[in-house]
Amino acid sequence: MADCLFCRIIRNEVPSRKVYEDDHTFAFEDLNPQGPTHILVIPKKHIASLKDAKAEDAELVGRCYLTAAHIARERSIEDGYRTVLNVGPRAGQSVFHLHVHLIGGRNLQWPPG
Ligand code: AMP
Ligand code: ZN
Repeated sequence: MADCLFCRIIRNEVPSRKVYEDDHTFAFEDLNPQGPTHILVIPKKHIASLKDAKAEDAELVGRCYLTAAHIARERSIEDGYRTVLNVGPRAGQSVFHLHVHLIGGRNLQWPPG
């Protein structure tokens, strides 16, 4: 999508600290990290939000989580990490290209705020 921030990051039109890329997913450091590890995993296909995902996107959404698990393994944070997918403005979604937050490297409280 032309004017989507995360699509522009995938196209390298906006700089990012890339940590992983494959045919379907892309991952980069969050600008405002909430922990020692805070990475955003996004599908290369533009999907605005989880509520806009279609049945045909099931594998792609799953791949985003598997990419997060792969990065967590590489970063040695498997003793505890969290994947968060904010849906809608009331849940804090501020960028409307579906993204999974991978947060770890510190103790995480439950329930989240
Ligand atoms: P959310 O609030 O769930 O929509 O998450 C959006 C996330 O994107 C926030 O954690 C922001 O810090 C992060 N973010 C916004 N712009 C950028 C950017 N240009 N590069 C990296 N992370 C960003
Ligand atoms: Zn996009």
